[in-house]
Amino acid sequence: VITLLAGGTGAAKLVDGLVQETDSAGLTVICNTGDDINLYGLHISPDIDTILYTLARMNDWEKGWGVKGDSFFCLESLKRFGYETWFRIGDRDMATHIHRTLELRRGRTLAEAIDSLRSALGVKARVLPMSNDPVETRVVTPNGDLHFQEFFVREGWKEVVDSVYFRGIDDARPAPGVIAAILESQAVILCPSNPVTSLGPILGVLGIREALRDTCAPVMAISPIVGGAPVSGPAHKLMAAKGWEVSSLGVAKALRDVTDFFVIDTRDQEMAPAISTLGIKVLVTETVMTNGEDRKKLGRSILDILKSEQGI
Ligand code: GDP
Repeated sequence: VITLLAGGTGAAKLVDGLVQETDSAGLTVICNTGDDINLYGLHISPDIDTILYTLARMNDWEKGWGVKGDSFFCLESLKRFGYETWFRIGDRDMATHIHRTLELRRGRTLAEAIDSLRSALGVKARVLPMSNDPVETRVVTPNGDLHFQEFFVREGWKEVVDSVYFRGIDDARPAPGVIAAILESQAVILCPSNPVTSLGPILGVLGIREALRDTCAPVMAISPIVGGAPVSGPAHKLMAAKGWEVSSLGVAKALRDVTDFFVIDTRDQEMAPAISTLGIKVLVTETVMTNGEDRKKLGRSILDILKSEQGI
């Protein structure tokens, strides 16, 4: 059993690569919920849904979010009624949010609502929210204190980032099964995800960082930064706001206490000695996934590394 800590896009690519090479029933994916947002009275969990859609083979690889071939009639109608529609929700995607919201209104936890979606979509892997409690990633900019989605989607991550914080994190408890998954897995993988706003909230939930330190399983991280820049998204802006160096080394420093193995791209090979001095074993391979073949190849490499290092 392999447990993954995941954000959205980068994690989805790796998850797809792994399920091409191994039985998905052996995967547990713990997802960030700091990006969750309420719109039109609906509870939307973008990272969870990206992972669920990927595992159900219905995600849109071109856009990087949403359901492949989805239509947007509902959103068009909402616009006519005067609602803001900057967060692009397709019609099939809308059904996911409606179901999750109705489950929550019936008194189910977020984890239970997600599990209901998971089984209806025929997904065999376990998909867990980091927490059932609300956590909200806030990005402070010169133009205001924004919800992560306002910064990321509405403003197209153009704003200067002064700081980032996670509202509610101090009261968030790990969802049932999260700590056990980390402690009882054969390996834990920190996906190539935004280290500040995707992995940050997960690692901030009480007990998760400690479980990663305590687990006997090898913990492997894959750098989301390649050649001094993120492969996609605003990780560089958020890392700089934290005072972290925008490089694989910078990510390694931020994750050093919880990481045994760190996978960097061949382009960052020269950083390997510096990362090793942090007490982390470095592995170098091609990590940029632009198509299904790349994803499969990285999935295979990761499984091979785990096998050779730990006999998994
Ligand atoms: P966000 O898009 O910054 O909100 O963050 P996500 O956690 O959803 O995923 C994006 C992160 O994954 C970014 O930091 C990217 O650099 C990283 N990423 C995306 N695609 C790849 C890839 O093919 N390879 C690697 N190594 N990282 C990737």
